[in-house]
Amino acid sequence: MTKTRLQCRECKKEYEPTFKYVCDDCFGPLDVMYDLSSLSRDMFAGREQTYWRYFELLPLEQKSNIVSIGAGMTPLIRAEKLGETLGLKNLYIKNDSVNPTFSFKDRPAGVAVSKAKEFGLSAVGCASTGNLASATAAHAAKGGFPCHVFAPSDLEMAKITQALSYGANYISVDGTYDDANRIAAQIGDSRGYGIVNINLRSYYVEGSKTLGYEVAEQMDWSVPDHLVVPVGSGAMLNAICKGFEELQSASLLDEISNMHMIAAQPHGCAPIVDAFRKKSKEVIPVEHPDTVAKSLAIGDPGDGRYVLKRLQQYNGFAEETNNAEILDAILLLAKTEGIFTEPAGGVSVAALKKMVEQGKIDKGDSVVCYVTGNGLKATESLMEVLPKPSVLKADINEISAVVR
Ligand SMILES: *Cc1c(COP(=O)(O)O)cnc(C)c1O
Ligand SMILES: [Zn+2]
Repeated sequence: MTKTRLQCRECKKEYEPTFKYVCDDCFGPLDVMYDLSSLSRDMFAGREQTYWRYFELLPLEQKSNIVSIGAGMTPLIRAEKLGETLGLKNLYIKNDSVNPTFSFKDRPAGVAVSKAKEFGLSAVGCASTGNLASATAAHAAKGGFPCHVFAPSDLEMAKITQALSYGANYISVDGTYDDANRIAAQIGDSRGYGIVNINLRSYYVEGSKTLGYEVAEQMDWSVPDHLVVPVGSGAMLNAICKGFEELQSASLLDEISNMHMIAAQPHGCAPIVDAFRKKSKEVIPVEHPDTVAKSLAIGDPGDGRYVLKRLQQYNGFAEETNNAEILDAILLLAKTEGIFTEPAGGVSVAALKKMVEQGKIDKGDSVVCYVTGNGLKATESLMEVLPKPSVLKADINEISAVVR
């Protein structure tokens, strides 16, 4: 018997956990389901400091198929200084920028590549807005897979350099993320390669849900009042909710229905925020995304509809922030908490700031703000707003004058 089964998110039809990701009947996405009956809080306590500590809740049959580079169990930081600036007493940052490839994408990519190993696939790949490229390439390197990355051509230099360094076949597509995604899907289908965010998506999102598990465990098995999540495709926000729901079903958490999910998107690519504001159930794609937050530049978010459902289910909000607000928020986080994030993290912090200003979050509420990528991956946009240090002569008098 297998540990998991697949279930259609729409019509609930069930399937064996095979290399399959859409429902035969209705083309709905397939989710991984587990037997949640014999879990306890204590069983996780002394385990390894990676997300594989939740093995019973991850979709691998055999531990020997795990491909791990040590991702997960990242710090949940009590952000007193940032909280004070924003007017919050119980603010936490989930700092996922310190994963091995410096973004949260090590979670979904690691699970998907492990599953590719379990399925015996010959190669892996992904469509990427930047971070998934390196996460997939690094896990492919560790697992001994060839890796094909499809990405729009306008990505930050650091992200391209990093992915190439892990040995990926990096295909820079003259077009948007959605163009790259379409091509990756066709290659995956025709070659039988495991495209982590497409034909392995059911397994991929299982990695992202550990962002919920870890926060629950790090908060001593409780649920924060608000969770601020940066949204591109929406897979992560949806998966975090699935994570909390599973813990509740397993009786590891009490009631979760009071939590508030907040979706943060950049102005210039905020189709989910637009739909939320119009109270629409459908997301209208943005054809030409334009934002400094390139990792969120997904014009046609695959899980957009489901994010809207989650926002409704969990008392949610959606907020967008422009480039200037994003860059300001990056600097605010860096200067108050010593955490350097890329624009996606700036989007979370800037959206949080707006939510507090609008009175949607109370001073004493507990808030977890997800910071999902590292600042070193995207320095270009910041260089434009930071003062460039001038070069001084190595002369004590000249330099003393500028050190006050
Ligand atoms: C991909 C990405 C996101 C968005 O995740 P989705 O699952 O696509 O919504 C957020 N932050 C960073 C740093 C990312 O790389
Ligand atoms: Zn179905």
